[in-house]
Amino acid sequence: MSRVYNFSAGPAVLPEEVLEEAQEEMLDYKGAGMSVMEMSHRSKAFDAIIQDAEADLRELMNIPDNYKVLFLQGGASLQFAMIPMNLMKNKVADYVVTGMWSKKAYQEAQKYGKANKVASSEDRTFTYIPDCSDLPISEDADYVYICENNTIYGTKFKTLPNTKGKLLVSDVSSCFLSEPIDVSKYAILFGGVQKNIGPAGMVIAIVREDLITDEIIPGTPTMMQYKIHADADSMYNTPNCYCIYMCGKVFKWLKEMGGLEAMKAHNEKKAKILYDFLDGSKLFSGTVVKEDRSLMNVPFITGNDELDAKFVAEAKKAGLENLKGHRSVGGMRASIYNAMPMVGVEKLVAFMKKFEEENIQNV
Ligand SMILES: *Cc1c(COP(=O)(O)O)cnc(C)c1O
Repeated sequence: MSRVYNFSAGPAVLPEEVLEEAQEEMLDYKGAGMSVMEMSHRSKAFDAIIQDAEADLRELMNIPDNYKVLFLQGGASLQFAMIPMNLMKNKVADYVVTGMWSKKAYQEAQKYGKANKVASSEDRTFTYIPDCSDLPISEDADYVYICENNTIYGTKFKTLPNTKGKLLVSDVSSCFLSEPIDVSKYAILFGGVQKNIGPAGMVIAIVREDLITDEIIPGTPTMMQYKIHADADSMYNTPNCYCIYMCGKVFKWLKEMGGLEAMKAHNEKKAKILYDFLDGSKLFSGTVVKEDRSLMNVPFITGNDELDAKFVAEAKKAGLENLKGHRSVGGMRASIYNAMPMVGVEKLVAFMKKFEEENIQNV
């Protein structure tokens, strides 16, 4: 067996300890005589799995009691529709567009009401986070929407926008559990788990309880009503059982790592190794405004498309995989989520140094 360092943006690297545990339990989960994949979601064993997962997540994020934790299917993208369907009472919402994902959410919301783009960083290809201290918030806005960490462009909100008292909705897919946050500042926060938590196919939505009502856009499908899922504790229909099980294991792993304060320190140290190298490099450069840099997704370029392609190909040969940038932006991107070990980033930087020495004359 040989494992590579996987810099994929998602589905992404998982902690090796977690994969090993799942392997050990694959055929016989704790004496059940079957795999978690094979058991009823109404079984005692699975009930303990989902309850433990929720309790551990609540502890890790310090989630207040007046928030529901929902394990839903349809990925983060289904939330782009569920949010307006459940929250647009006045049929008005304000969107901050800082990348492809918030743009998609903004476009989806237009189907259900008036979605306003109150700020955008598209003018400079999403390489920065716009000033959100005094946005033209609509008086009757049902909520203000952001994508907190922009997976494709590598930017991150370091301070939350001033919503002028309106509800804040945040897509945290690619920064979920990467550092502590104050959940009480959000109305809804949600993330597809395949970025920083578990396997693909699930989104975790953390929703303030008073927002979970029957007052929703008429015609909203049953499966897209927060209340249906909240009332049934995410078991209205068969949930993504195996994904919940894997996420639960990652929550326990995070607790063992010291929780989110410790993860933050670890992630800052890890990202600094890469950013410091980029700042001093004669060949490579980061593409994002320094103060808005993400700790999780680090895009960089050589400025030469052929050299970029050569880098990605040679890195792959050296066991450093999935460094190609998103198809919409090109260049390179290293996603260095919680489960990417320090040594992975050190090896990447060592490889970049060597590549720079060998190729600097070609620039
Ligand atoms: C990947 C991603 C999505 C889309 O997630 P799906 O689960 O594939 O729908 C949405 N938002 C952000 C920030 C992402 O990184």
